[in-house]
Amino acid sequence: MKQCPRCQQTYADELLNFCLHDGEMLVDLQTEPTSPRFADDPPPTMVMDNVRVTNPYQSPAPMVQQPYQQWQPAVNPQFGFAAATADDTMAKAAMILGIASVVLVCCYGGLWLGIPAMVTGFIGWRKAQEDPSKYTGSGMAVSGIAMGGVTFLVSLILMFLAILN
Ligand SMILES: [Zn+2]
Repeated sequence: MKQCPRCQQTYADELLNFCLHDGEMLVDLQTEPTSPRFADDPPPTMVMDNVRVTNPYQSPAPMVQQPYQQWQPAVNPQFGFAAATADDTMAKAAMILGIASVVLVCCYGGLWLGIPAMVTGFIGWRKAQEDPSKYTGSGMAVSGIAMGGVTFLVSLILMFLAILN
């Protein structure tokens, strides 16, 4: 079955190639339904694109949070630094001065070493009591105070004995 595209005249003769009325080239007339051919095809796959984030107001949000996240680790090392190097220099100095005052008690070490040992020991002990996270060594400070106090008294007695003699 052939059909003329211009005058829509159909021709049963398959050997005809041109319309007998206007000479238009005939085309094959598809009589059979075309739907079964498409029904055999697999159902069309719907490829869904990923949801695109096009909201320009979402990008500033992480930028605002970033300073906070950068600020957070900057504080933690500070705490670690403070904890690792808790100041005990005063207490250490008090203990060293106290030991020195004991060693030099014969030379009135209790006067010129025992007093500084008690002063630095008291300062170190108070700092450790007020802020234990920053200052430590209260034990050393107390021992410095004790040695300084003992040698100070011993030195005073020695000095009095020297004066009396
Ligand atoms: Zn025709």
